[in-house]
Amino acid sequence: MQELGRNFIAGEWVEGVSTVENRNPSDLSDLVGLFAQAGTDQLEATLDQARRAQAEWAAYGMERKQAALMAIGNELMARAEELGTLLSREEGKPLAEGKGEVYRAGQFFTYYAAECLRQLGENADSVRPGVEIDVRREAVGVVAIISPWNFPTATASWKIAPALCYGNAVVWKPANITPASAVALTEIIARQDIPKGLFSLVMGSGREIGQQLVESPKVNAISFTGSVPVGKGIAAAAIQNLTKVQMEMGSKNALAVMDDADIDLAVSLALGGAFGGTGQKCTASSRLVVHQAVHDAFVEKLVAGTKAMKVGHALGEGTQMGPVVSQQQLEENLAYVALGKSEGAELACGGQRLEMPHEGFYMSPGVFLNTTNDMRINREEMFAPLTSVISVGSYDEALSVVNDTNFGLTSGIVTQSLARATDFRRNARTGVVTVNLPTAGTDYHVPFGGRGDSSYGPREQGKAAAEFYTTVKTAYISAGAV
Ligand code: NDP
Repeated sequence: MQELGRNFIAGEWVEGVSTVENRNPSDLSDLVGLFAQAGTDQLEATLDQARRAQAEWAAYGMERKQAALMAIGNELMARAEELGTLLSREEGKPLAEGKGEVYRAGQFFTYYAAECLRQLGENADSVRPGVEIDVRREAVGVVAIISPWNFPTATASWKIAPALCYGNAVVWKPANITPASAVALTEIIARQDIPKGLFSLVMGSGREIGQQLVESPKVNAISFTGSVPVGKGIAAAAIQNLTKVQMEMGSKNALAVMDDADIDLAVSLALGGAFGGTGQKCTASSRLVVHQAVHDAFVEKLVAGTKAMKVGHALGEGTQMGPVVSQQQLEENLAYVALGKSEGAELACGGQRLEMPHEGFYMSPGVFLNTTNDMRINREEMFAPLTSVISVGSYDEALSVVNDTNFGLTSGIVTQSLARATDFRRNARTGVVTVNLPTAGTDYHVPFGGRGDSSYGPREQGKAAAEFYTTVKTAYISAGAV
């Protein structure tokens, strides 16, 4: 009998109103587990308890908070192999990526553990003589965190860690197709010295329990990562209660390869950026904007490298790309392959469903050639192991194609020219810019976020996270007569 993964409601592990099955996308015969779906009343109960717990947490000493976050981070890093295996088993990314993700999640907690001790305010003299001003940040209150499946542990951690660090209570609704990683992280958090109900795990579908959460007037702030349509719906719900929102919603990132680029480097950045995480990354290199002078040389190596990629079971030896996460995602990806061909793009390789010894959601990584930036495959986030080459005649044209998108999360340039790299860094309209580095893969101690449809609200990560997870208080103090 499979043990049920339960919700953590108001400080207790509880069963839900129904259960869902979680299956391994690399091998559908492998049942990862059964997971409880929270009910409406459970969500209300946990929100009420979160409010009480937040007041208690605010009164904890800063070293006590630091110790709790440090312990979570250290445990994640120490158990990266074990929890990374679980993550890869339920999400489908190769084991090295799963382990790396859990380790990185730990680093978010240790970083914000240290930030517990670094919350400095500002002070000033008033324009009124004898009056002093003290400006400091206070917790927002109860934060709803809605996270996606593509980085089930890291994305949640880069939201949960700062939320707790800056004194908030957290109600977390993870993506329903990666619940095992959510329960594993919650087990670690639940064991710490934190007030009862400060942190809750509420599993269930986004349309039901997620919608109830974002519509609740008991929530003070919502941090979301996922798709644009869901993000817009959450923003609309949040405005009804004037709830603070922060959202990150994917992109259509471009890697520009210039005529002076080191071609082998460019190919390796493109392969990693396009197909890492099976292309299911908001920072994926889905548009390769290539100078015509190096187009043929680049494409030849890119296609050879793509064909050589080993697709297989996420936990299999030597697997470079695992399955996609779900049947629905696979169908959408294959529909994009058909769409690209119908738009006139040439599919140079891949883009096919693959049969494997285990039944799973496998497809081969695909490269489209002869594409133009107005094609839908170059405008919509596919979240697939598919990338498109767009040929350009100059650096100026490359920059204009890179910027011609509704999104604006990351962009990169491969060049040996300092002048071009500098110009690109200044003029690419994205929240993150890279030079001779992949468009995917960012650090944890600096801001992360984008422009346009990619992001809405304050930046995530690093010290920038304080902007979202706190509210500023300005105090005026008169000493009175001496
Ligand atoms: P969604 O935007 O549907 O899901 C993201 C999170 O939001 C999940 O936890 C989901 O819950 C939840 N959610 C869904 N609907 C609501 C709602 N009405 N109210 C509150 N929460 C809600 O993304 P999908 O997982 O369906 O993926 C679809 C596409 O979104 C992908 O193909 C990709 O293009 C994009 N995406 C982008 C990501 C990024 O990193 N920016 C991450 C994931 C997806 P649940 O899944 O349990 O229903």
